[in-house]
Amino acid sequence: MKKKIVIIGGGIAGLSAGVYALRCGFEAAVLESHSIAGGNCTSWKRGDYLFEGGMHWLTGSGEREILNKCWHTVGALEDGVKVTFPEPFIEYDYNGTPVKFYRDVDKTEKHWLELSPEDEKEIKAFCGNIRKIKNLAIPVMDIKGVKVTKKMRPPMSLIFSGMSAMKLMRKFAEIDSEAYAKRFKHEGIRELLRASTGGKSGVLPIFFTMGILARGDGGFPEGGSLPFAGRIAAKFQALGGELIMNTRAEKVVIENGRATGVMANGKLIPADAVIVTADTMLAHNLFDVELKAPWYDEMRKHTEPTMCVFVSLGINADLSAYPHGLVVKPDKPLELSGRKYEYLSLNNYAADRDYSPEGKSAVTLVLDGDTWDYWKKAKEEGRYKEEKAKLAETVITALAERIPEIEGNVEVCDVATPLTYERYCGNWKGSWMSEVAFNMNVGNGYPAAIDGLSGVYFAGQRMMPPGGLPVALMTGRSAVQYLCKDTGTVFVSEE
Ligand SMILES: Cc1cc2nc3c(=O)[nH]c(=O)nc-3n(C[C@H](O)[C@H](O)[C@H](O)COP(=O)(O)OP(=O)(O)OC[C@H]3O[C@@H](n4cnc5c(N)ncnc54)[C@H](O)[C@@H]3O)c2cc1C
Repeated sequence: MKKKIVIIGGGIAGLSAGVYALRCGFEAAVLESHSIAGGNCTSWKRGDYLFEGGMHWLTGSGEREILNKCWHTVGALEDGVKVTFPEPFIEYDYNGTPVKFYRDVDKTEKHWLELSPEDEKEIKAFCGNIRKIKNLAIPVMDIKGVKVTKKMRPPMSLIFSGMSAMKLMRKFAEIDSEAYAKRFKHEGIRELLRASTGGKSGVLPIFFTMGILARGDGGFPEGGSLPFAGRIAAKFQALGGELIMNTRAEKVVIENGRATGVMANGKLIPADAVIVTADTMLAHNLFDVELKAPWYDEMRKHTEPTMCVFVSLGINADLSAYPHGLVVKPDKPLELSGRKYEYLSLNNYAADRDYSPEGKSAVTLVLDGDTWDYWKKAKEEGRYKEEKAKLAETVITALAERIPEIEGNVEVCDVATPLTYERYCGNWKGSWMSEVAFNMNVGNGYPAAIDGLSGVYFAGQRMMPPGGLPVALMTGRSAVQYLCKDTGTVFVSEE
């Protein structure tokens, strides 16, 4: 008889784990508390507009990437799903002069040298560093001791770019983004660099992000989050998986140190093994036994949340003359949710007919930062709605100073706070990724299991900082490899 695996959470990690489990011959059911699968990888419709809420760019969407095969295996990418690579990646409006980050590092170098010949040395060093690590694809590894139909072997080029990356990390680990930006004389370039770090202190994320884009990865699959998650859910069901929606797992049932099922809606769903993909930071709430493992303690002690206030605007004007990724600087820093914002970074979907009808534009903004306490207090004091309206008004007024078409044309406005994410996905503090601190040893993520507890595995964005969609996929895959190893099953690898 087939072993039955119950997976808690129907986000990208849970759905991916489900597909891998079925491919390896297990029976699988996914429990999802919401009515839509996808978790944070989602979008929502308001009036004429669709707002893209869970994916700006996808690591592994480039065809030559190792991860691309895994996205195909789980069904997220299929032949015929178009992936676009919009250029420029970001444009900063510096007093009317556009300063751009292209995906193509040669183009960025040429453009910056034209803007600021006196910065030649720094520009060449900056672009040179991106070139050095641009082959650093995320490796997809097999866990130790698992039998696989085909071993994943990272290419040699990865080893060399890995060495370059280590050197870069040593050189820049202690350099904060402000100090780095000051190396450039051109104020527009300095401001673009500052804005691109989104208020974070380190400069390394810029190199790594631009490296991914420079090698032709980090595209945007057409239709965005919802169809992306929907394709994995469809594949899971087509392979015979059971997707149980509107069902919140309350407890993982443990008998004699082994998982025997999951309690949901007051009923027992029997299982031979359980994969928990609900936020690992809160996983202990699903157990009556203590989760005792050094990695679990370390994760809970050191995880810093990545979170945001997400503003979505439906604008009754055609903004397709503006770039997709646009950064503007308001006249003075904005005070929003108790934090100061010097720049506003927009995603403009005006040219994409999946997001608005002709002549209208869907625009979204991510306001980074930990504002959970602020919103929690506002809620407790009955000011939540009013605070959201105030924030929206401040943002719209500031944007209209730079983009006049916005003035008087906002017909839909939607503000999601960390409390929205918390309510919707059950994530810790409403956070959907984790910060990587200086010198943090990210490695291959935390192990998916806890000694002394059998038949329980963990996957999801929190298991390998900084998280995100590729981590959700890879940890879902690893959790199934742990399961295969423990049950003597051969893991069916990517073709
Ligand atoms: C604004 C924004 C932009 C982003 N941009 C990008 C990007 O460009 N690239 C990128 O790679 N990533 C991006 N991300 C991050 C990415 O979307 C997430 O990291 C990823 O979707 C996490 O997937 P997951 O399956 O690990 O977790 P989740 O999405 O949190 O899924 C967990 C699921 O479990 C369910 N659940 C929780 N508790 C229970 C329970 N007790 N019982 C049943 N179900 C439960 C939840 O409802 C949820 O569906 C972005 C996220 C946001 C919000």
